[in-house]
Amino acid sequence: MQLHYQQEREALVQAGLKLVEQGLVARTWGNISVKLNEEEMLITPSGKFYEDLTPADMVIIKFKTNDYDKTGIKPSSEFKLHSGIYNDRKEFSAIIHTHQMNASTCAAARVEVPAVLDDLAQIVGPSVRCADYALPSTKKIVRETVKAMRGRNAALMANHGAVCAGRDLDEAFAVCQVLEKGCKAFIEAQFLGGAKHISKFEAWAMHQVYLKKYSKIAKKKK
Ligand SMILES: [Zn+2]
Repeated sequence: MQLHYQQEREALVQAGLKLVEQGLVARTWGNISVKLNEEEMLITPSGKFYEDLTPADMVIIKFKTNDYDKTGIKPSSEFKLHSGIYNDRKEFSAIIHTHQMNASTCAAARVEVPAVLDDLAQIVGPSVRCADYALPSTKKIVRETVKAMRGRNAALMANHGAVCAGRDLDEAFAVCQVLEKGCKAFIEAQFLGGAKHISKFEAWAMHQVYLKKYSKIAKKKK
């Protein structure tokens, strides 16, 4: 049977498999969503293994009100975090929450990761802030993470993991990968005499150039 938003549902199934394959999440942790229109998003369900997900498992949620069909499948417990980000950042169409190792290590130290590599500056932003600690699924975690993400495509969540966003799923994936590489380089450079970072202004400028260039590429792909 063809479901409403079949293509987007299948894209989420594939994205889940890719996340596991690349070691960015394990088991049932993390979650992925895509924006369907100006009112709704589609998100992975709660408590299911990525390997077992089917298109029918994805849940449609109105991100302005957090309403969804309560008689159906339960959405990921962090859906309000996704809603909060879509409401704050109109440009995003895809969000991935991961427990990726190196970003989680930086989140455990609650550090702001500076732009230590060009690609981190370009794709993620002038730095990656760490949102203050808050319990999962609370209003505070949404508020703090949205705030930490301003002007950037990702944020660390203290003692938890990371959240990455993009104008499409491909871009959100690239953010996760570049964030992981950047956090690894930052941690290891600290042991080689200390990480040296690109100046905040140059990093910011690189991010702006990338944002404009990628818009053109994305338009061509459509
Ligand atoms: Zn999590």
